[in-house]
Amino acid sequence: MNAQEYVSQFMADVIAKNPNEPEFHQAVREVVESVAPLIVENPQLLNLKVMERIVEPERVVMFRVPWVSDSGEVMINKGYRIQMNSAIGPYKGGVRFHPSVNLSILKFLAFEQTFKNSLTTLPMGGGKGGSDFNPKGKSEMEIMRFCQSFITELYRHIGPDTDVPAGDIGVGGREVAYMFGQYKRLANEFTGTFTGKGRSFGGSIMRPEATGYGACYFGQAMLATRGESYKGKTVAISGAGNVAQFAAQKATALGAKVVTLSDSNGFIYDPQGINEEKLKYVFMLKNVQRGRIREYVTKYPEAQYFDGQRPWIVKCDIAMPCATQNELNEEEARTLIANGCTCVVEGANMPTTPAAIAVFQNAKILYSPGKASNAGGVATSGLEMTQNSIRLGWSKEEVDQKLQSIMANIHERCVEFGTEDDGYVNYVKGANIAGFMKVADAMVAQGIV
Ligand code: NDP
Repeated sequence: MNAQEYVSQFMADVIAKNPNEPEFHQAVREVVESVAPLIVENPQLLNLKVMERIVEPERVVMFRVPWVSDSGEVMINKGYRIQMNSAIGPYKGGVRFHPSVNLSILKFLAFEQTFKNSLTTLPMGGGKGGSDFNPKGKSEMEIMRFCQSFITELYRHIGPDTDVPAGDIGVGGREVAYMFGQYKRLANEFTGTFTGKGRSFGGSIMRPEATGYGACYFGQAMLATRGESYKGKTVAISGAGNVAQFAAQKATALGAKVVTLSDSNGFIYDPQGINEEKLKYVFMLKNVQRGRIREYVTKYPEAQYFDGQRPWIVKCDIAMPCATQNELNEEEARTLIANGCTCVVEGANMPTTPAAIAVFQNAKILYSPGKASNAGGVATSGLEMTQNSIRLGWSKEEVDQKLQSIMANIHERCVEFGTEDDGYVNYVKGANIAGFMKVADAMVAQGIV
């Protein structure tokens, strides 16, 4: 069987066994296409059905999350935790609260997480969880009651050596703190079962910054392969949440001009650049007032708001999608290239559609998949786990230095396994192969489990 036949047969099986899960199929196909040549040449991987086992979650927990609204109405949401793979460490991955959450989205995220965590070189398996709960417009007490109810069921399935959740879309420091509080109460122990905790109760310095900063460090490493850097570049960023905010901050600190931010309603374009002072306003608007990005143009009238549109129509050198999956399509990829974009660094998970990735790769521009360039978040979560275990806290300089060296290391691994005959670095292939090899090796060693 050749690699192409393996991919066709494998994907037919995955689709038949996991119907109606398009995001999961998309994520699996991307990895299988990268690693198939390796698998068909290695009878051990083939016969031990390593890839077939990797796509089957070790455990999926689905549960009811009942809670009571401020007006006294009984509300019911779905809760999930996908415990995907524990070959190299306890399950590790965020929790997402968004109305779009379903099994397909969480399985794709848990699957991606397995390879991302492997790439960090830290001992973390892959997991992801969440709920179709919509935090928008909810009161502080409703958020707290929801988090408590979510954990009242989930607490029995997680633990510092079993499964360590963190934040993701709709789950930031506030939600992690409420979940940790309820977990601690039910488990009757203070352990590092969550990461992204507040600094006063075991959180790592730099964890909030880590994903966005890490993406910029990765972008710098990619640009350096072509003798370039962020300095003097124009950057378009999507999203206005945790990842987007700190990507904007670091890109600005590295000398770039960030001209866009967005949310699910539209994007803002500030041709003068969203500088440090304007970013402070964005932090307050999004994290304290919990407002919408369109309010930016009221405060800064030199900027424009584009309702219902995404930032990829704006001229930029570097694009950093930092909002959500499949938020950059083929047509937008062509527009970016036509406008002179030469580097795409994913802060979000799977934000670029497969057809758009092909456009970037065919044009031979720098393109990094999220599982490599956004791994700084989970890497710093790994550092938080270590600090919790040794009951010590590292300084900002120590954590930042470790983050930088982890991102440089991931970049090196991508170059090692992704460089093609003509010298072009296929970061997708590099990240998938490097991430897969460590997990596969551990699974082979541990037997049929
Ligand atoms: P946040 O909830 O802090 O922010 C998400 C941002 O994306 C918001 O501006 C939100 O806008 C926008 N967004 C969400 N859903 C959509 C949608 N369907 N269409 C358009 N815009 C949307 O999440 P994070 O910043 O933490 O996460 C962003 C991405 O980064 C996700 O893909 C996540 O999986 C990934 N990631 C996050 C990590 C972390 O450490 N937080 C680590 C690694 C990856 P709105 O307010 O309108 O919903």
